[in-house]
Amino acid sequence: MAIDLVSRRDWNARAPRGDYSQLDSTKGVKVHYTGGRVEPGIVGDHGACAALVRSIQAFHMEGNGWVDIGYSFVACPHRKVFEGRGLHHLPAANGPGLNSGHYAVLGLVGNTGLVQPTDQILHAILDAVEHVRARGGAGKEIKGHRDGYSTDCPGEPLYSWVRRGAPRPSGGGEPPPSGPVAPPFPGRLLSYPPVMRGEDVRTWQSRIRQRGFDLDADGAYGPDSRAACIAFQRRQGIADDGVVGPLTWRLTWEAPQS
Ligand SMILES: [Zn+2]
Ligand SMILES: [Zn+2]
Repeated sequence: MAIDLVSRRDWNARAPRGDYSQLDSTKGVKVHYTGGRVEPGIVGDHGACAALVRSIQAFHMEGNGWVDIGYSFVACPHRKVFEGRGLHHLPAANGPGLNSGHYAVLGLVGNTGLVQPTDQILHAILDAVEHVRARGGAGKEIKGHRDGYSTDCPGEPLYSWVRRGAPRPSGGGEPPPSGPVAPPFPGRLLSYPPVMRGEDVRTWQSRIRQRGFDLDADGAYGPDSRAACIAFQRRQGIADDGVVGPLTWRLTWEAPQS
């Protein structure tokens, strides 16, 4: 699933008060929590996520005197990723001397209220991680704020997940493939002449029959199989050589039924 980014305009971010420092590459990402209370109600209200991110930005700019929110990205329970300072900009949340080493990604959990990261929050954190690896010059590391800095952050539940290698939660992730998936290509081209026989031929014939072709599944690839193959290939708009190769094999299962 592609990252579902919430742009700064979309969350009504204030403009940064000054210039960011450029960040060419990092060792990876450090994961954070808010350290305060997160209302559990945000799980059912994405508008509340945006309000929380704005309040964090205000605190960082007015309380800490930073030029902007201290995080690179913020992951919410709706598997959306708020753009903080974004790609190639030095964050501030990792602590003095530690910001050039890692991007800073906040998961919207706290030390009271919403304490356990939901699967969607974990997915969103990893979506942000993949984004900074692909576009922001980030390396493979995923660490917690407390690694190398004296803090409770990112809290026990998030930190133990980081220590386990930050796995994608099972379930609720990538949707399962919606259509049928072809069995492995048998490894030889099915063609005629001469007649070819085998279980692979029968497997292909059975499937092409399900697609409405009038063909016996007798395990022998002869003139009728060749004719069905050519008709199918023409329907799919691929080369009509009458030979079942890897592409024709796969499409016999996976092409949408017309
Ligand atoms: Zn932190
Ligand atoms: Zn949200």
